[in-house]
Amino acid sequence: MEKQLLTTVEAPAPIKPRRELIRPAPLPLPKSNSTITARSRNFFGNRFVYAVISQRAHGLSIGVNMNPGKFCNFDCVYCEVDRRETPRDAEVDLGVMTAELRRMLSLVAKGKMKELPGYQSVPEELLQLKEVALSGDGEPTLCPNFAEVVEAVVHVRAQRDYPFFKIVLITNATGLHLMQVHFGIGLLTAEDEIWAKLDAGTQEAMDRITRAKIAPDNAPNPTLAQVMENILTLGRQRPVVIQSLFPLLDGKEPTPEEIEQYVQRLRELREGGAQISLVQVYSAHRPAVHHNCGHLPLKSLLRIAQRVHEVTGLKAEVF
Ligand code: SF4
Repeated sequence: MEKQLLTTVEAPAPIKPRRELIRPAPLPLPKSNSTITARSRNFFGNRFVYAVISQRAHGLSIGVNMNPGKFCNFDCVYCEVDRRETPRDAEVDLGVMTAELRRMLSLVAKGKMKELPGYQSVPEELLQLKEVALSGDGEPTLCPNFAEVVEAVVHVRAQRDYPFFKIVLITNATGLHLMQVHFGIGLLTAEDEIWAKLDAGTQEAMDRITRAKIAPDNAPNPTLAQVMENILTLGRQRPVVIQSLFPLLDGKEPTPEEIEQYVQRLRELREGGAQISLVQVYSAHRPAVHHNCGHLPLKSLLRIAQRVHEVTGLKAEVF
């Protein structure tokens, strides 16, 4: 990583915040008698492919669980994945995943999502497919057959049996420099997106929130320096969406100093040449496995988004 990335830099000439660039992104929720709520994943008996009404996707997202073995080099305080149960699969079976993805895409294309359990009362506008997400129960870039899975999803799209769909890779950014990840990302088009996690501006804050684990031999170094370097390198090649989750930890909000450090890291990325199309600012939603983690008030999230825009000029959305 370039050294200046983690140094404090002088504040730039202030950029007048434009209100439309700092906005909450509301999502009309399904009716209360639905068993589906925003952000609840449903596999419908599948092993690798699920559906979710996603606030950040602004509607229906079909997800590929890239890491069914639940392996992650972070242990985020807000993570909702319960790792106490032994996973059924260690890695994605390409044949099974492709068949499940095709089935799900077919249901969407035929307007039959409403026939699925719990989806009967989901409003029609939320059932339009917004993306196929490469995400899941662990860090996708640590998926042992990452490039093959991406290739399989891209192949399904290329066959044009279904309307075009955008592919979104949702990652903690620690493995973006790995050879097979680099190859997989090279298969994506300009319409596809990469959402990279940046939850903190110092290693100390990151240790508290994402609680990186000692990396095994074959896993990348899960440090802030590695995350910054990877986002910078990728952002110089193609636009990146930054996703930043700010939890309420033991009832405490992030301090103003922590927010300033975080905003400075974004500024360093931008000044280093990273193209950042959007900063998503949000908080813990689903019940976390760790009970000391709560949801930050909307006004606090809006304040963070406003600071992002003031200092960096980047577009920020609050969820
Ligand atoms: S990076 Fe994602 S999967 Fe890994 S611990 Fe954090 S929230 Fe969970």
